[in-house]
Amino acid sequence: MSTETYHVVFQMVCSRCNRKEVIYLRNYRLRLCSFHFIDFFERKVFDFIRKFKLIKRGESVLVAFSGGKDSLACLLSLRSIADEHGFNVSAYHIDLGINGYSYTMRKYVEEICGELGVTLHLTDLKEKYGFTVEEASKKRKRPVCSVCGIVKRYLMNRETRELGYNKLATGHNMDDMIEFAFKNWLNQEFEWLAKQKPLLPQLHPKVTPKIKPLFERTEKENAAYVTLKGFEYPLNECPNTYLSGWKEVASKIEEMKTGFKLMFIKSLEKFSYPLRQGDFKVCSLCGEPSSSEICAFCKVKTAKI
Ligand SMILES: [Zn+2]
Ligand SMILES: [Zn+2]
Repeated sequence: MSTETYHVVFQMVCSRCNRKEVIYLRNYRLRLCSFHFIDFFERKVFDFIRKFKLIKRGESVLVAFSGGKDSLACLLSLRSIADEHGFNVSAYHIDLGINGYSYTMRKYVEEICGELGVTLHLTDLKEKYGFTVEEASKKRKRPVCSVCGIVKRYLMNRETRELGYNKLATGHNMDDMIEFAFKNWLNQEFEWLAKQKPLLPQLHPKVTPKIKPLFERTEKENAAYVTLKGFEYPLNECPNTYLSGWKEVASKIEEMKTGFKLMFIKSLEKFSYPLRQGDFKVCSLCGEPSSSEICAFCKVKTAKI
């Protein structure tokens, strides 16, 4: 009797074809090859846009393109489905003047938009408004991230409207949204939480509708998507980034309870809380929407040492 030893090598293959698996999506119990993952990702974005009516046929969408992987995933996926869905996509970048960071991101964004043939609108904060976020942070004695948030919200809203776009799209992913939700739930910011929806409608004639097409996509999926589409992206984080630790907490829960993140995000989509009505005024200096006499951006801009 002969004995033979068989060495069986298991190579995981795609759930949809015979190619090699490059990513395993635990939530969907899917092993996918590069081709089928790209197809899965774009199909999911397309279905999500349809489900939440994020973009109407014939509309023009401005993508906030910081140069990070999430904003790139947003730009690439919207661009890939734009023709089928009948909308236009352009990009918007703000050069915030952050030392050792903004220059790299701006060059990258210009290069990618050139390569893709996407129209890029750019605001150089120092050139147009005379300050950088770091300078304003020192003058106002506020953290750089808080000034940065004020500047981005203001300019994205204003530029999208003034340039004539219908929607502003941001690359917020599922992990970002869960982090925001944890922080705001614990601070009892329920009204703020209720506004974190895939589509934030026009609440005032000067407020641009905002959409988050990657609301149900994870950080990992976004990174895999842009890489498998053949793009590299700068890995340098903003030097002012503050890590709250909530993303790690959510990932620990996910390890113990598969599907937690997706269930959580779907609950956030349905969460509602009474929103205060009619508290929009316009800033007496710039005429932009504001909750006080002078808007947060003008306060930052006009700060004295
Ligand atoms: Zn495949
Ligand atoms: Zn103002």
